[in-house]
Amino acid sequence: MKTITSYINGQWQNASATLLPVINPATEAVVAQLSEADADETARAVAAAEASWKSGVWANKPAAEKRRIFQRIVALTLEHIEELAQLECLNSGLPLNYLRARQLPRITRNFEFFADWLSQNVEKAGMTDQDYLRFVVREPAGVAALISPWNAPLALASTKIAAALAFGNSCVLKTAETTPLAVARFMDILSEAGVPAGVVNLVNGRGQVTGDALVRHPAVRVVSFTGGTQTGRAIAAAAAPGLKRVDLELGGKSANIITATANLDDALDGALTSIYTNNGQQCFAGSRILVQRQVADEFIARFVQRARAIRVGDPLDMATEVGPLSNAAHYARVCSFVDIALQDGGQLLCGGKRPAHVGDKGYYLEPTAVLMPSNSARVCQEEIFGPFAAFQIFDEFDEAIAIANDSEFGLVSYLWSNDLTQAHRAAREIQAGVVLVNTPMILDLRFPFGGYKTSGVGREGIDGMRHFYTEEKTVTIAL
Ligand code: NAD
Repeated sequence: MKTITSYINGQWQNASATLLPVINPATEAVVAQLSEADADETARAVAAAEASWKSGVWANKPAAEKRRIFQRIVALTLEHIEELAQLECLNSGLPLNYLRARQLPRITRNFEFFADWLSQNVEKAGMTDQDYLRFVVREPAGVAALISPWNAPLALASTKIAAALAFGNSCVLKTAETTPLAVARFMDILSEAGVPAGVVNLVNGRGQVTGDALVRHPAVRVVSFTGGTQTGRAIAAAAAPGLKRVDLELGGKSANIITATANLDDALDGALTSIYTNNGQQCFAGSRILVQRQVADEFIARFVQRARAIRVGDPLDMATEVGPLSNAAHYARVCSFVDIALQDGGQLLCGGKRPAHVGDKGYYLEPTAVLMPSNSARVCQEEIFGPFAAFQIFDEFDEAIAIANDSEFGLVSYLWSNDLTQAHRAAREIQAGVVLVNTPMILDLRFPFGGYKTSGVGREGIDGMRHFYTEEKTVTIAL
């Protein structure tokens, strides 16, 4: 059985004493084992990153050369896309078809984006200011710790790697311990493309062991984290004594408002995509669906009919639209919300159980929807992170805005409406990092993505990343 080890200074390491099983969520079979890096091994990875950064082997490489390497990464990723998709599917349970068509193209888009950026951007230096020549130099921050989750393992890790490298940093990545396969394979692709040894290092293991050691290491200057809000708090606390810069891309409980003026066909497609794509495990899932009373019966009936027709099953089957949830603990937690919804006065509209046809292995749940009497219900307040929609009905638009904002989270909000004033009001009044009107989520690195409130600190998008991954130095020379 394959053992995934740490990748330090361009070398795969020997297995450590602690081996964690990597499980296929579709079959519950162990498909690989993961060698957990302890604090010493993590420190060696940071030391390799630091040495490569200080040597200038990457930071001082001309932009044109960095760009060529990024282009080779794109070409090699495309060459190996099928293998990466199979690996990602094997340990994530995400449908293969979806990985190929939607999620993995994000890897190449990330590196293409920064390759273009490298060819077009220079810091515009200098101004004379009375008796001084003054200019700003932007330098790499140094060693970046990159910590990513399991719901889009390589897509999210690659965003962080591409950005860290584009701004001249070296990095140590810790991906989620349940989904290491494709990310590990990607290390070889980076090396083959010409990324020098030590510039990108990988450590694996549980968050409280490997992740915590990485965040606390004194040579780490910036910590880019995507994951749950509770983990974000722990990481912020661990980074605080070293006054490290943190970027926290955290959870959400996004409202999806459907008004009586909406094009209901579009709204229906949007609502289903938003909550059931990626097996329901999306930070920007429209998990609270707020429907205006005049159209509620029709909309909910059509939604339920479509949700019941979603094909749940083996992620390797090209027809599958929703696969198993990521892991056993997560599955148990998501399923527990069915009873929690009922205890809070909810009505089960569809799903709520294991599909009959999938057998007894795999973490499968039917696409589920509940109708809730109040936004105070736990299923309307807590991030479930599964194929689980919580409907509420509203009368006035003001009420919908108030419900949307009645949340500790503020990542994304959706509005389906053909009323221009409502669109403007949503854009202005909703407390969320992204407001989408009549469209599902669009990821685009030219624009900031990130959360208000407990959905995060910082933004992934070119401007936020430029500030996050660099230090600014003001130079003043007397003339
Ligand atoms: P998680 O927080 O459990 O884990 C994320 C990563 O953090 C993993 O690699 C984990 O090992 C590591 N980690 C855990 N504890 C740590 C610690 N104390 N120190 C350092 N590292 C630690 O999240 P998850 O369950 O893997 O992912 C789901 C969550 O991620 C959801 O809340 C989702 O909304 C969020 N998410 C957010 C975005 C976004 O862009 N805002 C994108 C995807 C997922």
